[in-house]
Amino acid sequence: MSKNLTSRAEDYSKWYNELVVKADLAENSAVRGCMVIKPYGFAIWEKMQAELDRMFKATGHQNAYFPLFVPKSLFEAEEKNAEGFAKECAVVTHYRLQNDPDNPGKLRVDPEAKLEEELVVRPTSEAIIWSTYKNWIQSYRDLPILINQWANVVRWEMRTRLFLRTAEFLWQEGHTAHATKEEALDETIQMNNIYAEFVENFMAIPVIKGVKSESERFAGAVETYCIEALMQDGKALQAGTSHFLGQNFAKAFDVKFTNKEGKQDFVWATSWGVSTRLIGALIMTHSDDKGLVLPPNLAPIQVVIVPIYKGEEELNQISEVANKLVADLQKLNISVKFDNRDTHRPGAKFAQYELQGVPLRIAIGPKDLANNTVELARRDTLSKSVESIDNITQLIPDILVDIQNSLFNRAETFRDQHITEVENFETFKSVLENKGGFISAFWDGNVDTEQRIKELTKATIRCIPNQEEVVTGVCIFSGKPAKYRVLFAKAY
Ligand code: AMP
Repeated sequence: MSKNLTSRAEDYSKWYNELVVKADLAENSAVRGCMVIKPYGFAIWEKMQAELDRMFKATGHQNAYFPLFVPKSLFEAEEKNAEGFAKECAVVTHYRLQNDPDNPGKLRVDPEAKLEEELVVRPTSEAIIWSTYKNWIQSYRDLPILINQWANVVRWEMRTRLFLRTAEFLWQEGHTAHATKEEALDETIQMNNIYAEFVENFMAIPVIKGVKSESERFAGAVETYCIEALMQDGKALQAGTSHFLGQNFAKAFDVKFTNKEGKQDFVWATSWGVSTRLIGALIMTHSDDKGLVLPPNLAPIQVVIVPIYKGEEELNQISEVANKLVADLQKLNISVKFDNRDTHRPGAKFAQYELQGVPLRIAIGPKDLANNTVELARRDTLSKSVESIDNITQLIPDILVDIQNSLFNRAETFRDQHITEVENFETFKSVLENKGGFISAFWDGNVDTEQRIKELTKATIRCIPNQEEVVTGVCIFSGKPAKYRVLFAKAY
C-alpha cells in the first residue's frame, strides 16, 4: 500500500480523491461518473443502512421495492418534477442487441427491437410510486402509507466526484401518503429530524436544519426541508432532504380518497432521501492528512489488535492473550479484528489501519507479555498509552464513546467558528474569499437577488434555518427590506 497522501493544505480536492482510493473505499469505474464501492466502503454503508432502517421502522415505516424503469408517459405526469429532472435522465429506447453485419465481432442495437414507449431510468421514484399508490388508495382507511425503498438511482451529472456526486448512487427514498396536510407536514419534519439525529449521533457530523429557497427546492415539492453540513475546507454539503409534496403528485396521478366525512379529496404526499453522498461528508468532516478517521458507531472494525513478534512461539503466546481479548470484546458487541497475518510487518499494518481510520489499535509485543500490558493507540488524537491487560476490556467501551463524542465536538466547534454574520455585500465577499464557511445574512426573498449573488460569488442559499422568524433588516444585496436571515455558502 503506497503511503503519503497529498496534504489537505496542499490540495484538498486531491487529498479527498486519493484518500477514497487508498483507504479502499471506492474507485472509478469503466462507466463515466459511476463508482465501484469496495468492501470496506460498503461495510460503512451497511452500518449506515442498518441504523437508518432501524429508525425508519421505529417510526412505522416499511420497506418495499419499485421498478428501476419509469415509462415516459408516467414520468411526464407531474410537470415540474419532469422538467426538473429531464436534463439528467438516462433513457432506454431498445431491448435487444444483435450482431453487426458491417462489423464482425461487434454488436449493435437491433432496429426491430425499439420499445413502443421509452423507459426513463429512475432519477427519483415519485412517478412510478404514485402511479402505483393510485391503485392502493380508495378511502381514508387506506391511509397513511408509510413506505421506504433502498435503491439505486441515476442522474446524469456532468461534474462527478466519488461518493459526493455520482451518476448512479445508492440511497433510500421514503414515499408517504396522508389524509391531511398537517399529517404530511408532520411527517416531512419528523424525517428531517431523524436525518439530523442520525447524522449527528451516528456519523458525528453537526448539521443545520432548515428549508430550501424556491430555486433550490426539489422539483415538484411545495417545501424542501434539509440538513446542511460544513466540510473542513469551508464548503457546505447538503446532507439530506425531506420534501413536503402537497397534493402535486396526487393531482398528477389522480390519487383521490374518500375522507371521513364521505367527501373525495386528493392525497397528501411526502418524500425524503439520503444517499451514499453521506460517506463523502463523513470523510470531509473527520479525516486528516494521515487518512480516514471513523466515528466508532460507523467503523466496520472498531478495535484492531496487532501482534509484534519474532518467531512462531512468540506469536502463539501473543495469540492466546489476543484471542481472549477478542472474545471478551465481542461479548460487549464491539467489532474487533486480530490481524495475525504473517505476510505483513507490524509497521505496514499500523499504516493500513491508520489510513483506514480504525478508531482503536492495540499492539501486543513480548514486553507486554512480560508486564501484562498492551499498547493502546487512538486514531482521532493519535495518542498512545500503555494499559494493564486486566483493565482493557473495561476501558474500551468508554474510550469508544469518548472518541465518538469528541469527533462530534471538534466538528461542531469548527462549524460554529465558520458561521459568520455579515451586514453588507462587501463583507460577504471578503468572508467568502478569505474564510469560507456559512455566511448568515439578510435576504429579500427574491429569486433574482439569489441568482445575482450566485453569479457574482458562486455562493448559494444553503437553507433558511428559522423560516417562521420575523426579521427586521435590509437585504445585503438589494438593500430592500429583508424577508429572512439565511445561510449562504459555496457548496459541493
Ligand atoms: P433529492 O432527491 O434531490 O432531494 O436528493 C436526495 C438526497 O440525495 C440528498 O441527500 C442529496 O444530497 C443526495 N444526492 C443528490 N444528487 C446526488 C448525487 N448525484 N450523488 C449522490 N447523492 C446525491
